[in-house]
Amino acid sequence: LGNRLQDILDNLRKSSTLTEAQVKAAMREIRMALLEADVNFGVAKDFVARVSEKAVGQEVLGNLQAGQQVVKVVHDELIETLGGKAQQPNLKNEGNVFFLVGLQGAGKTTSAGKLASHYKSKGRRVLLVAADTQRPAAREQLRTLGQQVGVPVLEVADHEDPVTTRTRLAEHLQKDYRDLIIVDTAGRLQIDEALMDQLADLKGALSPTETLLVVDAMTGQEALNVAQTFESRIGLSGLIMTKLDGDARGGAALSARFVTGKPIYFAGVSEKLSGLEPFYPDRIAGRILGMGDVLSLIERAQQAEIEATLPKKPGEFDLEDLLTQLRQIRKMGPLGDLLKMIPGMSRMLPSEFNVDEKQIQRIDAMISSMTLKERRNPKIIDGKRRKRIAQGSGVQVQDINRLLKMHEQMKEMMKVMQKMGMGGKGGKMPK
Ligand code: GDP
Ligand code: MG
Repeated sequence: LGNRLQDILDNLRKSSTLTEAQVKAAMREIRMALLEADVNFGVAKDFVARVSEKAVGQEVLGNLQAGQQVVKVVHDELIETLGGKAQQPNLKNEGNVFFLVGLQGAGKTTSAGKLASHYKSKGRRVLLVAADTQRPAAREQLRTLGQQVGVPVLEVADHEDPVTTRTRLAEHLQKDYRDLIIVDTAGRLQIDEALMDQLADLKGALSPTETLLVVDAMTGQEALNVAQTFESRIGLSGLIMTKLDGDARGGAALSARFVTGKPIYFAGVSEKLSGLEPFYPDRIAGRILGMGDVLSLIERAQQAEIEATLPKKPGEFDLEDLLTQLRQIRKMGPLGDLLKMIPGMSRMLPSEFNVDEKQIQRIDAMISSMTLKERRNPKIIDGKRRKRIAQGSGVQVQDINRLLKMHEQMKEMMKVMQKMGMGGKGGKMPK
């Protein structure tokens, strides 16, 4: 997939505005990337339609290449769809009730413990409520977590009706004041009508200030259905994505967020009590796009924006010049013929400078994978950068080494030609 996308992006390189056909081709690949990240099909389709509309006709910014710009538009829109900036639940001074719902195994009980720990450390007086009477061990699990965190746990009795639970909770708070109540509820393996009714009743009795759906990031496609049902039957105010430490690509987050429109407040990143983080849309956006080369494209795009005004040293023949000239020469016709027309040229060309069209394309790809800063000042291209550039342009590191060596030789050649009066000012290739 990475390669196909790269090809398409390569083809976009030379345009100055994004045409419909270009965007369409790139979006086919983006949609594939989304589906591979387990984004729901309908969501992916809708997303791509929205992004295409934004991208078509856009002028390609400053030093950005068209392909980079498409990826940037996609990346920005993904972040926006995922909620923009990290958001946190609003907490009042008192009377906060978090009601956690979700399928069995999603991570509700674990998240209840993590939230208790998180908010306790922020000075909150937390009470955990174990309302999962479905599984025998569920209350015990929360009791243990309560002990670990150091917060009390109120256990709901078997077959207790919600009104009684509310009364017992009020009584508890009379004796032991708490400003944040976190309620852990029962889940089933699948959406279940009886469970939905039960949860709706309990929610009605407890009037939570936040109703949080806990979603397992590994559920992929199913996340959409789950989120949709919980939203319509229970009503949600926010989401928690768990198990983002696994190899899930994060498509579930996009689907769940898309279908509920509710903020994703937290990400579960381990089984431990400390494994809770704010949910950062930009990180997940990168993860959904998923490909190293796409991410480096975005980095380069951002870098390019910064560097767009980078001045060039006069008289220096840098890699940016080489790229410009190669492209000019390519437009003029078969390169070999052209070069042979220059007296003495074939003798002066370094042996590495093989004049075949494929090779020129590879050089173009390699230089295109560099930031402007690197092109202007090839000295900074260290081992790490060489590796990145090689990956970005689909070649080996040795190829980058060879290119840099060739460029050094050409630079020398330029100096000689200038002295001989063959080159123009500023180290230009002979016209
Ligand atoms: P519940 O049925 O919704 O209450 O789910 P649990 O809280 O019992 O969690 C089910 C399993 O998922 C347990 O083994 C947890 O340790 C594990 N789990 C929960 N959250 C995370 C997470 O963020 N990362 C990882 N790796 N495991 C998690
Ligand atoms: Mg549980």
